[in-house]
Amino acid sequence: MSSTRGVMIFAEQTGGVVHPVANELLGKGREIADTLGVELSAVLCGHCMEQEAQELIYRGADNVYLFDNEALASFDIMNYRANIVALVEETKPDIFLLGATPIGRSLGPRLAAALNTGLTADCTSLEVDDEGHLVQIRPAFSGNILAHIKTETRPQMATVRYKIMQSLPRDVERQGHIVRPSLTIGEPLARLSKVPTDVEKQIGVSEAEVIVCGGRGLKKPEDLVMLKELADALGGVVGCSKPLVDSGWMDKEHLVGFSGNTVRPRVYFAVGVSGSSQHLIGMRTSERIIAINSDPTADIFQVADYSIVGDLYEIVPRLTAALRESRERDRTAGSVCS
Ligand code: FAD
Repeated sequence: MSSTRGVMIFAEQTGGVVHPVANELLGKGREIADTLGVELSAVLCGHCMEQEAQELIYRGADNVYLFDNEALASFDIMNYRANIVALVEETKPDIFLLGATPIGRSLGPRLAAALNTGLTADCTSLEVDDEGHLVQIRPAFSGNILAHIKTETRPQMATVRYKIMQSLPRDVERQGHIVRPSLTIGEPLARLSKVPTDVEKQIGVSEAEVIVCGGRGLKKPEDLVMLKELADALGGVVGCSKPLVDSGWMDKEHLVGFSGNTVRPRVYFAVGVSGSSQHLIGMRTSERIIAINSDPTADIFQVADYSIVGDLYEIVPRLTAALRESRERDRTAGSVCS
């Protein structure tokens, strides 16, 4: 087993709320740290986040390094990088993990470059081999193979996709230390003056509990309205396969799969989606998959819990109407009782 100084994860936050990927990293990090017999630490940059630091302990961290300063309240790449690099150089973790989120994807390569080490992006699995090396597993060659990558340099760094790893249950008995390292604050290159309120409220496909995903079975962009109506009836959001992004029908943030988001909603509707390996990689762990496709041999049916063979243009409006009707019935029944 290699001599190791611990596992560290980056707990990102926005608006004082820690991203749930941090809990998933702690879940996986705890497993790796226990296998190696080392400590698990989290690094949190923000302002007035003592309570959130404590929560990271409840979720598995032995130590939380809390960089607390007003200038760190929102993501400031230069100040985040400078302080985390100094911390890593001092504490020398053997493994450093970040979420493969926009913030993690932006910070990770900069940390790796400053620390003169490698970074494996977008891992979907992590293991420890017999020598104690981190095996970083991620899809490669269009998602057709899983590459197993080891890094010679230290720390071994990886970004990990959201909604892949399991979080630990919150345990308020868990003990740990909150450490406040000395920090340096430089002039920020840019300052965030305001977050538009509609962006604040938006739920992305990664967080959604219900996703209605449209594929190339749709004939024109206006038909997305039909999917939006179904998503609204279910309290969900609309996602899409890659051809819809390539055609400019939807933004990449709605994309599900290898090149976009990994999702794990309670219910995933695949509407006119064939089920390519690159698409399946991003959604196959959804709790319930309902596929609507006119081709009974479509690969999506291999992973579907409920298969509806037929024309989406007939089925989707009927589903939406049935859901609305049933909601209206519930509402009327509720008003009679009250
Ligand atoms: P198609 O494969 O064309 O399937 C359309 C389906 O609609 C068919 O099964 C058809 O039977 C059905 N259909 C047609 N009309 C109707 C109707 N009226 N009613 C019901 N069903 C109907 N793809 C992704 O999705 N996400 C990714 O992240 C991604 N990354 C990629 C990365 C690389 C490097 C590469 C090479 C490819 C990637 N792709 C990705 C593309 C992927 O290979 C497929 O081309 C894509 O997923 C196909 O999208 P689709 O299922 O919507 O379209």
